[in-house]
Amino acid sequence: MPDGINNHQAQGGAAPQFDAIIVGAGFSGLYQLHQLRDQLGLNVLVIEAGDDVGGTWYWNRYPGARCDSESHYYSYSFSRALQEEWRWSERYPEHGEIRRYLAHVADRFDLRRNISLNTRLTAARWDEAGNRWLIDTDTRGTLSATVFITAVGCLSAANIPQIPGLDTFKGAWHHTGRWPHQGVDFTGKRVGLIGTGSTGIQATPVIAQQAAQLTVFQRTANYSIPARNRPLTDEEWSEIQDSYEAIRERARSSTNGHPFVIFDKSALDVSPAERSRRYEEAWARGGLGFRAAFNDLLKNPAANATASDFIRAKIAEIVRDPATAAKLTPTDHPFASKRPPVDTDYFDTFNRANVTLVDIKATPIERIEARGIQTTETLHELDIIVFATGFDALTGPLLALEISGAGGHNLRQDWAAGPRSYLGLQPPHYPNMFTITGPGSPSVLTNMPVAIEQHTQWITACISYMRAHGFVRIETSEEEAGTWVAKVNAAANATLLPMANSSWYLGANVPGKPRVFMPYAGGMAHYARICDEVARDGYRGFTLSRARQVA
Ligand code: NAP
Repeated sequence: MPDGINNHQAQGGAAPQFDAIIVGAGFSGLYQLHQLRDQLGLNVLVIEAGDDVGGTWYWNRYPGARCDSESHYYSYSFSRALQEEWRWSERYPEHGEIRRYLAHVADRFDLRRNISLNTRLTAARWDEAGNRWLIDTDTRGTLSATVFITAVGCLSAANIPQIPGLDTFKGAWHHTGRWPHQGVDFTGKRVGLIGTGSTGIQATPVIAQQAAQLTVFQRTANYSIPARNRPLTDEEWSEIQDSYEAIRERARSSTNGHPFVIFDKSALDVSPAERSRRYEEAWARGGLGFRAAFNDLLKNPAANATASDFIRAKIAEIVRDPATAAKLTPTDHPFASKRPPVDTDYFDTFNRANVTLVDIKATPIERIEARGIQTTETLHELDIIVFATGFDALTGPLLALEISGAGGHNLRQDWAAGPRSYLGLQPPHYPNMFTITGPGSPSVLTNMPVAIEQHTQWITACISYMRAHGFVRIETSEEEAGTWVAKVNAAANATLLPMANSSWYLGANVPGKPRVFMPYAGGMAHYARICDEVARDGYRGFTLSRARQVA
């Protein structure tokens, strides 16, 4: 049993009290615990539903799952010793390696004694009289904390489409974000995979190698850039170690938390020959850095069209059957207006004899039946269905917590028309609650560890300030949230991001979800400066109160 958890509840006593309760033991929760416990000396508990640490990577174990930020910067930067002792094996970290890294972090900083695994938060309620949060759990009764911090990730609530007849399917089916820990054996099986986002694009080539037959059901064709994954050589690793601080600094001062050097010219300001040479180089290097080939790919539609056309031409070059190549060619949104995937042999996989592509915009899925998936055209007989259909992103994991705030407020109702939050850090009416990488912050538009370190450090500094000045309550207002939401919208509208109608950034992938652009697109470094200024101004936009004012 972790420190600080006692039997008061079981004995009918008051809820066990903590200075802070954090939900989630992924990148965010682990580092937030380390800071609050080891820097501020607080009594902290992390609640985690899984049976180990890992967060998003605890659940996402589908074939081909690896991060498409490069390993040496998809990692914590706060500890030089940790950075020096952990040796990543490949350019992009595979899911198991990320879990081993996070387990190492938990052990190295002795975090496990304050983590309650296999514990699910069932509701969180603000107790006005006690000026505290009451946290209901499934295994430990009700706990209480002065500060409540959500570290639940942005992409953790699985989106499983309500296709009629799924319950009648005689084979097995799995969502990629809830993948069985023992794995799935595709040998000799007829597999159907629905969804061609980052996940489907990673899983398709790996499943195709094992399955007897793979049928990919595609709703929207996607752009994808080759990842060019490979083992990291000792020489590369020592170069990374030598320049680590500069790499970290570049990542922190960038728009997306990646240490890319963005070429400082428009795609329209160079000759066609130079443009094509730069795109070829970026394609050969591989990875999300393709977006840095020019400085206006996400701002100027004409500049973007040159990149979109380049990728379309690559698809036509790689895929031998022209009809399949045409179906795989995205036409309805500009490159990178949806989160751009990176892949290993995705388009080439459609040259295999055992792989078929079904365009479900042309021939929609009507239902699932015992033997497989029935489209308007035919029945696709299947043994296994893989749902690579993404997530109820950003708001889904928070709304699942059933949070009620001050004055009878309820987050589900408050966010019925879209998330409202100041700086993506705290919604109005939810005192002493902080949302790490919440909607309204750069979150999913960045290399996540950079956004996570910035948020957790800001929250730690804020709590430290409150304690130093005798404040016990921090809250924001409707007005501040409204002003910030307007800034989030303005930042998105200054880019091409809203041009993708089916993007999960907009909530468009989940039927009935309000279409609101959720992450802050004004840039990671710019956002961090705003947060720093808010703190420097005595937490401008927040009201801080001392105990006697609360009572
Ligand atoms: P996603 O990008 O939302 O893609 C879901 C796919 O399923 C889309 O092709 C979508 O089609 C399709 N789909 C959704 N509902 C459907 C329905 N009812 N019927 C048919 N098709 C449906 O989800 P994801 O691929 O899991 O990726 C989500 C995010 O997770 C990524 O964008 C990325 O940020 C992160 N991720 C990262 C990595 C990595 O780092 N390597 C890997 C995987 C995921 P539409 O496009 O038409 O909606």
